[in-house]
Amino acid sequence: MPEKIIPLADLRYASRVPHIPERLNAPVGLLGDTLGRPLRDLRISVTDRCNFRCSYCMPSEVFNKDYAFLPQTSLLSFEEITRLARIFVAHGVEKIRLTGGEPLLRKHLEVLVEMLAKLQTPEGKPLDITLTTNASLLAKKAQSLKDAGLQRVTVSLDGLDDAVFRRMNDVDFPVADVLKGIEVAQKVGLAPIKINMVVKRGTNDSEILPMARYFRHSGTVLRFIEYMDVGATNGWRMDEVLPSAQVIERIHAEFPLEVIDANYLGETAQRWRYADGAGEVGVISSVTQAFCGDCNRARLSTEGKLFLCLFASQGHDLRALLRGDYSDAQISAATAHIWQARTDRYSEQRAALPADTSMPDSGSKRVEMSYIGG
Ligand code: SAM
Ligand code: SF4
Ligand code: SF4
Repeated sequence: MPEKIIPLADLRYASRVPHIPERLNAPVGLLGDTLGRPLRDLRISVTDRCNFRCSYCMPSEVFNKDYAFLPQTSLLSFEEITRLARIFVAHGVEKIRLTGGEPLLRKHLEVLVEMLAKLQTPEGKPLDITLTTNASLLAKKAQSLKDAGLQRVTVSLDGLDDAVFRRMNDVDFPVADVLKGIEVAQKVGLAPIKINMVVKRGTNDSEILPMARYFRHSGTVLRFIEYMDVGATNGWRMDEVLPSAQVIERIHAEFPLEVIDANYLGETAQRWRYADGAGEVGVISSVTQAFCGDCNRARLSTEGKLFLCLFASQGHDLRALLRGDYSDAQISAATAHIWQARTDRYSEQRAALPADTSMPDSGSKRVEMSYIGG
C-alpha cells in the first residue's frame, strides 16, 4: 500500500497513513533506524492544552481564546494509548514519559499511569514511567500519581524570582505554588526529581545562580535547557540563546563543578557535580551541541500521530490504524517499518548552517511542542 498524505480537516498538520508491510514479522525487542539508532524512549502527549503561556512554547498571541485546540473525540483514549505503548515496548521501548501541553490537565491521568505501569519489557522488567509537568497541580495530584505507579517527575521551572516567573508563564502564576508542588512530590517519593529551566538570554538568565543555590543539597537535579527553535510560533532568535557552556561557567565561578559521565547512551543532558558534594546539575545543549547521533526518542501526539523528531513537520497517523480494522500484529509491523525508515537529525543539520539560522524549509509547518510533547 503506498503512503498517502492527508491534510487534517483544520489543516493544522499533514499526516501519513502508515504502510502495512506484507510480512508481519514478530517484534524482537530491538529496532534500528537508518542510522542504527534503537527505539528506547516514547514520549506521549496526553493533551495539547495548558494553563500556562510560556512565550517560548505557547505564546499568548497565538494560543488565545480563538485558538482551536483538539476536540475531545480526537484524543487517544487511555485504552488506545496503552495498546500502542504495549506495541512500542515489544519493539524495545524502556522508558515512557507523559507530557503535553500540561499532562496534569488530562482528567484521571492516574488511571493511565496505572495501566502503563502494568506493562513489562520483553525481559520482564518494569518500565521507567515518568511525567513532565509545570507543577501547578502537582501538590494536589502527587500522591495519587505515586500510588498509581509513577516513579518520578520532571518539573519545569524558569526562575525563583516571583516577578520573573510570572512573566515567563504569562498567566501570573506564583512561583510559591510550584515550589510547594515540588516539595509534596519529594515527600511522597516521586524521586529523584529533575527540574528543567529553559534559559532565555535577557529574560531569565539572571535566575541561573539563584536556581543553582536553591536546589543545591536538595536531592533534585537541576538542568538548564537551551532555548530551541521548536514549533513555528515562538519567534526564536539565536541571540536569545545562552549557550550551555556559559551557564556552566557562571555556576562554576561560584560553585566549582566537575564533569561526570552520562547515565546511559542517548542521555540528552551533560552532567556535572558540585565539587563540594552538594549534588548534580545538567545542561541540555540542543542548539549549540546537537545530540542526534544517539537520539532514541519517538513522540506520540495527543491525537495519535507518531513523530520521529521534535522538529518534524509530519507525523504518521497511528490513530487511523487503531480506529480502523487492524490487528496488533499489523500495527506493530507498521510501526517497525516507520522507525526503520527514520533518517531525522534536524539539530545536526541546523548546526551545519551559519549561526542564527533556523532550518529554512519547514519552519512554518513544524509542529508545536505543546502538540507532540517535549
Ligand atoms: N507543560 C509541561 C511542562 O512545561 O513541563 C510539559 C510539556 S512542555 C512542552 C515540556 C518541556 O518542553 C518543558 O520543560 C519546557 O520547558 C520545554 N520547552 C518548551 N518549549 C521549549 C523551547 N522553545 N525550547 C526549549 N525547551 C522548551
Ligand atoms: Fe505549558 Fe509546558 Fe508549554 Fe509552558 S512549556 S506553555 S507549561 S506546555
Ligand atoms: Fe532527536 Fe530530532 Fe532532537 Fe536530533 S533534532 S536529537 S533527531 S529529536
